[in-house]
Amino acid sequence: MLWLCASGGAWAMETVTLKLKWSHSFQFAGYYAAKAQGYYRDAGLDVHFSEGNPGDDAVADVISGRAQFGSGSSSLLLNRTAHAPVVVLAVIFQHSPYVLIANPANGIRNIHDLAGKRIMVEPLAEELEAYLLREGISPKDYRQIPLSHDIRDLTENRTDAIFAYNSVQPFYLDQAGFEYRIFSPRAAGIDFYGDNLFTSEYYLNSHPQEAKAFREASLKGWDYAMAHPDEIIDLILREYSQQQPREKLQFEAREMRNLIQPEHVDIGYMYPGRWQHIASVYTELGMLSDDFSIEGFLYDPNPKVDLTWLYYSLLISLGGVIVLGGFASFIHTTNRRLKISLAELNEAKIQLDISHQKYQTLTESMRDVVWIIDAESRRFTYISPSVQGLRGYMPEEVLAASLADSLMPESFARVQEGIAERLPKARSGELKEDQYFTHELEQRCKNGGSVWTEVILHYCRNPQSGRIEIRGVSRDISERRLAEEKIRHMAQHDSLTSLPNRMLFSELTERALASARREQTRLALVFVDLDKFKPVNDTYGHGVGDLLLKEVAIRIRQCLRDSDTVGRIGGDEFVMLLPQVGSAENALVIANKVRETLNRPFLISGKTLAISSSMGVALYPEHGANQIDLEAHADFAMYHAKASGRNQVSLFSPNTPQQ
Ligand code: GH3
Ligand code: MG
Repeated sequence: MLWLCASGGAWAMETVTLKLKWSHSFQFAGYYAAKAQGYYRDAGLDVHFSEGNPGDDAVADVISGRAQFGSGSSSLLLNRTAHAPVVVLAVIFQHSPYVLIANPANGIRNIHDLAGKRIMVEPLAEELEAYLLREGISPKDYRQIPLSHDIRDLTENRTDAIFAYNSVQPFYLDQAGFEYRIFSPRAAGIDFYGDNLFTSEYYLNSHPQEAKAFREASLKGWDYAMAHPDEIIDLILREYSQQQPREKLQFEAREMRNLIQPEHVDIGYMYPGRWQHIASVYTELGMLSDDFSIEGFLYDPNPKVDLTWLYYSLLISLGGVIVLGGFASFIHTTNRRLKISLAELNEAKIQLDISHQKYQTLTESMRDVVWIIDAESRRFTYISPSVQGLRGYMPEEVLAASLADSLMPESFARVQEGIAERLPKARSGELKEDQYFTHELEQRCKNGGSVWTEVILHYCRNPQSGRIEIRGVSRDISERRLAEEKIRHMAQHDSLTSLPNRMLFSELTERALASARREQTRLALVFVDLDKFKPVNDTYGHGVGDLLLKEVAIRIRQCLRDSDTVGRIGGDEFVMLLPQVGSAENALVIANKVRETLNRPFLISGKTLAISSSMGVALYPEHGANQIDLEAHADFAMYHAKASGRNQVSLFSPNTPQQ
């Protein structure tokens, strides 16, 4: 008998078929891994894969018995009601890969722009239909075109948008250099499971052991595949299909990691609440009745077993036998230990859930935005919901967009430089994980504006994927920037007239001189001092004097070009900087224009005030090669104008005698 089993291993194998949802690709990596690693064989199963083709119905194949297992989307729920008693054994993709991809060149900037457009639809992607419906776009609001699976229909403008897989079509579009926009149903709160492993109720009841063994071996295969993606890609290309290039499979593997989340969730895990959520979306779409129950739809891998019969039979068959009584006691102790371990395990799981929830609650209740960027692809892989408060975008929109879409151009350029410099160091280990960097970055907002943020980040290696990540926190600092801007303005401007003060004016003169030297152009400095201003104060009071100074500032400014500057450098002293003035004559014309403007009466607080001004002009390079000389000479010329009877403009001359 023993000999028979050993030598007859091959024929004792149960042959089963797994119907794939689609043609061979990384999407089914775990199943290939389970076969290649011998997990199915060890479970007594000889597994065949049946490739999916357009028009195939995996559910029909499994229900009819042509296949025992299938890979299907969340619409399995609908099949359940349509008298196809399917049972989900395990969830592989924690999030669905279905997205809408649109051509922005056809005026599609946001999801609402899809109204009235041509969309290539896939019948099984009800979640995308639900997404559009939630955004107020019903099927009659867009032109439905049957899915062709040819990406050129989008790039060659035969459609405006397509129902697509996040892990597939973007690869080909990137390759074609085609600009596109991705809309994820998660933006509207629709978060379906992706690929699921399922069987029929009939098969599960008739072959419970095989179903259990197939499930376990498959999940083991998925663990292996996620830990060794490159090996499975080799396997696919070698044994299954060479239809797709290696780079495409690598892209798919990377994107799938985000959807499967092997770091956070055990592969296979499913939560009845999520299925209930999916059912409620179907109900919203009118595809499922309100009273639908998921009872019997979800496979329970660890059902509670009633062991009473075991204790009875033990009691009857072993009763009175002392030696076997000892054996019973042993079972009892082992059982107790097992129960304790199980309780501890449960407790540990609860604690883990609590701490996970705590961190989640913490990041999700913060105003600051917590995020992770995959440094290699430069895309966000996580962003906390507070991003909506900061920038108006839903987390899903940020995840689907590129980094350039998140930052204003100047900030994006700085970020690119930072990554280019630090990523190689992070890879080589030269950059330590506790080394933090702070940046002030201007981020884009959904309303078309921007917000200034302080970003603190560090580089680290993801322990599961081995890829370098940038983890950081962004904080809104727009108020601080405004306050800083105000302080800077106050430090550089005169509080009465808001004109540049002496300090800023001096800086601007220095810059203008540097440019005049470079360009070999002329520049004029004109000192202005009001004549007999003191009596205005004395007669009408300081307040009226202040108002007059403000009006003077406005009139001078109005006489000048934008490229000219006027500052207030003392009580009733102003100074004008006229770059590229051309000649002394031009400078005198401008100065006289200002003088005449100031001669016109001012109406202040119901009083008509008349004032005049004296001005001194000095030119670069004739009257001074530097700021000190130019200022001294303009001042000197101004005093000469005063001394010559006021209300006039005087050009500096080295021959003017000193008073
Ligand atoms: P001059 O023709 O020689 O220039 O005589 P002036 O009366 O204009 O006197 P001067 O330029 O020497 O002095 C300017 C006066 O301006 C001194 C001060 O009383 C007044 N003053 C200085 N700063 C302010 C200010 O902020 N507000 C007001 N209202 N008056 C000021
Ligand atoms: Mg004066």
